[in-house]
Amino acid sequence: MTTSRFTAMAQSKCPKCRVGKVFEGPVYGFKKQKMHERCPHCGLKFEVEPGYFYAAMYVSYAFSVAEVVALGLATAMLTKSESPWLYVSVLFGAILIFAPFNLRYSRLVLLHYLSPKIVYNPAYEIASEQK
Ligand SMILES: [Zn+2]
Repeated sequence: MTTSRFTAMAQSKCPKCRVGKVFEGPVYGFKKQKMHERCPHCGLKFEVEPGYFYAAMYVSYAFSVAEVVALGLATAMLTKSESPWLYVSVLFGAILIFAPFNLRYSRLVLLHYLSPKIVYNPAYEIASEQK
């Protein structure tokens, strides 16, 4: 059985082998998120070229807009408030809470869906299952 692209992305696995982890540790924690330079399983260098993850900013921006719009509408519908301070505090808090998630998943979306140079090779995953 091979892992689907979405499952591999959600579990922060490497886009090439879908076995090795891209990040060390969990999304939320007290330690700074650290990314492996190379996949511990297949050796793929995640930063394909220098500054590659600048492109993840665009994905992160899309995530932030989606989160802010959804939470702004939810706040408006639930509270029916017109106080700008309520919206400022809810949205500012949401941006802080979602920041680690956005950092990790913007890079994972970039690696899994927006990197035509990185191709999934099921041989790595099959080899790891036979061990
Ligand atoms: Zn790998």
